[in-house]
Order: sequence, then structure tokens, then C-alpha cells
Amino acid sequence: MAKTDNSLMSTIVSLCKRRGFVFQASEIYGGIGNTYDYGPLGVELKRNVKEAWWSRVVTARADVVGLDSAIIQNPKVWEVSGHVGGFTDPMVDCKKCKGRFRADKLEDAKCPEKPSKRPGECAGELTEPRSFNLMFKTHIGPVEESGATAYLRPETAQGIFLNFKNVLESARIKPPFGIAQIGKSFRNEITPGNFVFRTREFEQAEMEFFVPPEENDKWYSYWRDARFSWYSELGIRPENLRLREHDADELAHYSTACADVEYLYPFGWGELEGIACRTDFDLKRHSEATGTDLLYFDPQTKEKYTPYVIEPAGGIDRMALTFLIDAYEEEQLEKDTRVVLRFHPEIAPITCAVFPLVKKDGMPEKAHEVETILRRARFSTFYDEKAAIGRRYRRQDEIGTPFCITIDGETLNSDVVTVRERDSMEQTTVPIAELRTFLDEAILNWSR
Ligand code: ATP
Repeated sequence: MAKTDNSLMSTIVSLCKRRGFVFQASEIYGGIGNTYDYGPLGVELKRNVKEAWWSRVVTARADVVGLDSAIIQNPKVWEVSGHVGGFTDPMVDCKKCKGRFRADKLEDAKCPEKPSKRPGECAGELTEPRSFNLMFKTHIGPVEESGATAYLRPETAQGIFLNFKNVLESARIKPPFGIAQIGKSFRNEITPGNFVFRTREFEQAEMEFFVPPEENDKWYSYWRDARFSWYSELGIRPENLRLREHDADELAHYSTACADVEYLYPFGWGELEGIACRTDFDLKRHSEATGTDLLYFDPQTKEKYTPYVIEPAGGIDRMALTFLIDAYEEEQLEKDTRVVLRFHPEIAPITCAVFPLVKKDGMPEKAHEVETILRRARFSTFYDEKAAIGRRYRRQDEIGTPFCITIDGETLNSDVVTVRERDSMEQTTVPIAELRTFLDEAILNWSR
């Protein structure tokens, strides 16, 4: 039965640290406000999330190509995009404890003065909200003068708009088409929190899909629905997902529609990904500011136009957290309870664990042979020969490994192994020669 309150969040945080998913950054120096490092399992989890996104959004399609643009761009980019003037959140200060909070997210913030919990509970008065720009500033070159100010990108999208023409000319592609990018973004969040849900440094997966203006509505519905389905296809429970269309007063002035994919986190519903119509706003602004022609010339109609843009934008860290939370289960068995992460096998950090039943009789050697076969077949694999077999299974359940492969006397006699599946705990005897096909099929047919 899944936990539904904040105790689930602290259980996840401690599991992440104990098993090597996520560590506090600069921990031995006392940390640095809500910043995290990903450990050996966390990095695999994130790689798998990125791969699952890229394979569906880019590799599987003929109409989307990739990009990797610079984090630091010409500072004028951010003036023209509107970020210097308008990428702000409303901030309030507490006159007593000096805490600073995001005015529109007070319910997520914590008062620094104990035992108070929420802002203002220390009996302090909160100031009127002021606008706080979220962009991190830095300097280019050795002299810290004002002309050398640059910004760390707060979104990856602008790098895509800047390369619209380059991609159009080099990739021999025409609207409707998309440019996708995964990379780090930086926001000096006033109130980071809820573990890796909101941090100041995070990874985004964004795609700008350029369409003829009259096809805007069709492609908006298409990408909104495709992105929403992606999560349940990868095992997220549908009852924990919802799609929320923005009201007109929530939309950016240039946007005609926007929807959020939301997830029911232990701390309430929260945005996981946004799908927005950005119209021709960005291309037109950059074109006007630079004098560069960012139009598409349609050779059939002989007309030039600025494409409209549909943008799915999600956070990789938030996705990884969501997969973790949703996968977590404490399953009551006959004699005890087991902790199991029911990840989709595509998302699980380790796909196969290989165990010799005992540490003698040539079983470890045979197990290493099987391990090598699996690694060569590119299954992420872990070898373990310590402790009783039941304990080894449980350790793998807790990190979500879908298959445990045991080498026993039968393996030595007739080259068969026992595959134990994480979810059903069922065991199947499989010839080593058929192991790869067996696993491929089990992964393909997996469902929650
Ligand atoms: P929020 O309302 O949560 O601040 P946003 O609407 O500003 O998010 P977008 O600008 O649409 O977010 O960014 C796209 C995605 O990037 C979000 O859906 C989220 O998954 C991720 N993201 C945004 N800010 C952060 C952050 N500070 N930490 C982690 N992920 C983030």
C-alpha cells in the first residue's frame, strides 16, 4: 500500500541517499541550499528518463531533430526574449526572521525560525510582494565590469530559436518540424524545495515544434496528448496524472493555449511538464532585434511566413522524482513486508542482477560468464554474491531491478538459469542461450 503523506517524501529521500540515487551537494561542507548530486543509481535513472524522452520525441520520428546549444548566450538574447525584464517571481520578506519567500507559493515555503512551519508563523510581518528576477548573472572574461554581464540560461528553448535558420538550412527539413534539446537550466528560485522538485540548477527536456500557423491547433492537441500519454506508457499510474488547461488569465500575453501535465505528489498536485503554444512570438522578436530573416519560404505556395511554435517543456529531475515516487510500494507479503520500486524496465537504473546461489563449486565463475553476456548485450547489470539469496532479491527490489538471474547447480549441469521477476516474484528456468530474447520480450510486454 502506498503512503500518501509527507512520510512518503522522507522515506524516498532517505532511500535515495542510502542506495545512492541522490545525495546532498557539498554535503561534507554542510551542503548548499537545496542542491543535489546524483549518485550511481540516480545517474542511471536520469539517463534512462532522458533516453526514454529522446527516443520517443526524436529518434522515433522523421520530423524532429536534436540540438545542444550553449548555456551562456549573447546577453541581448535574454533582453529580446523578455527574460531580463519579465522573468520574475513575486517575493516577500519576513520582517522578523528575515526569511524570503515566493509570494505565490507560500504554502510550499518553510519559515527558517523553528518551531514555526509556514512563513509568518514566527509572528513576523510579511512585506508587500516585490518582483525578483530569477536569472543567474555571471561575467565573461577576466574583468567584472557591467558590459561583461552574461546570464546562465533559465530555459533551453531560446537556444533553439537562435538556431532555427541554421537547422532549417542544414537539416533539409520543413514545417511542420521540431528541434529538441536536453540540457541544464538555472533559476535563482526564491523558494526551492521538495527535494529535487524545485532546485536552482536542473535539467530540462524541451522541443520547439514549428508549424504553419493554420495548423497550430491541430499540433497543440497532438503534442499535449502525446506528452500526457508518455508518462502512463512508462508506468506512471493514470490516477496520479491529470492534464490541466490554463485559463486565459494564466497565459503569457503571446500564448494562445497552454496545458500542464500534473502529478499527485505527496505534497499535492504539481506541474510536471507544460505544453504551450508560443505562436510566432520568439522568432519574430529575434528577427526584429537582429535583422535576420527567420521566415520559412514554402516552395509550393511561394509564400514566406513565420512558423507558429508548440513547445512541450519538462524537467528531467522532476520526471526522475515522479518515477521514483510513483514506483514506490511497500508490499505486504505472507510473512513480512517488502519495499519495491516498480519502475518500467526502461526506466529502472539496473536491468539485471546476477547471483551465484553459493560462493563455491564454480558458480561465481559461471555467474561472471552470464554477467559478461548481459553486459555485452547492453543490459545494465549488477553482480552480487554476498548474503542469502532472499536478501539479495530484496536489495534489488528496493532499487527496482526487474530481473534477478540466479546461477545454481542446474546451470553447471545444463546451462539454464533461474530468472526471478521483480513484480510477480515468479521464477522461470531459461537456457542461457535464450536469456537475451527472454529479457527483451519481458521488457516489451511489461505492464504495471
Ligand atoms: P513552476 O511553475 O513549477 O515554477 P514553470 O511553469 O516556471 O514551473 P517552465 O518554465 O514551464 O516551468 O519549465 C518547464 C519545466 O521545467 C517544468 O514543468 C518543470 O518540470 C521544470 N522546472 C522548472 N523549474 C524548475 C526548477 N526550479 N527545478 C526543477 N525543475 C524545474
